[in-house]
Amino acid sequence: MIEDSYRHKGMRRNLIKTLLEKGIRDKAVLEAIQKVPRHYFFDKAFLEHAYQDKAFPIGEGQTISQPYTVAVQTELLDIRPGHKVLEIGTGSGYQCCILLELKADVYTIEYNKKLYRQAKSFLNSLGYRAHFRQGDGSQGWPTFAPYDRIIVTAGAPSLPDALIHQLKPEGKLVIPVGNEEHQEMIRITKDAAGKINSESHDYFRFVPLLGKYGWKKNK
Ligand code: SAM
Repeated sequence: MIEDSYRHKGMRRNLIKTLLEKGIRDKAVLEAIQKVPRHYFFDKAFLEHAYQDKAFPIGEGQTISQPYTVAVQTELLDIRPGHKVLEIGTGSGYQCCILLELKADVYTIEYNKKLYRQAKSFLNSLGYRAHFRQGDGSQGWPTFAPYDRIIVTAGAPSLPDALIHQLKPEGKLVIPVGNEEHQEMIRITKDAAGKINSESHDYFRFVPLLGKYGWKKNK
């Protein structure tokens, strides 16, 4: 079993200070980040990288997102306990754990088969319960739609209509949209009548969203 020592908890408190300095204000989001041991998602040899505010490779050419990016996306999502949340891009499963700590009912999709298998079995071994699927999340997960919240953790070339359709009225979609170099963080809010409002929140750099409504590349 991996250890979560006082030293690790202290390193997480320092990370929270950094996130506060960078403008993250949502207490529930900061508490969730304090609770999830990010070093569990790192190989032992790279433990000292776990609490730096940096993205890090997780194999298969993919990354665990930077803590600041996780915090911004989660803050924009504005999760309430019991929300049904679709995450596109399970990756390491770290963001999924943050959503679970906020008491969301999480549906998470990963395109890469190896990462899907790893994240599913690792999160289960930690006692984190989500609904996992391997497949193309650019098309959403229609079987369980509609969702209160949708988060996309890979850079999309444009806004996939399929995801907007799978949002509930008063639902929110947070998605980075742009070219392969940098993407604008877009928050879409659907009002009670189904009308769409879009806001832009700064630029980030994500690995590409693949699949039907993503960048056309091999898996
Ligand atoms: N949320 C992740 C975490 O906490 O570790 C970080 C995700 S990483 C930045 C982006 C992930 O999106 C990669 O694992 C990639 O394989 C996945 N991905 C890319 N295109 C996808 C698609 N169409 N459907 C599902 N997952 C996809």
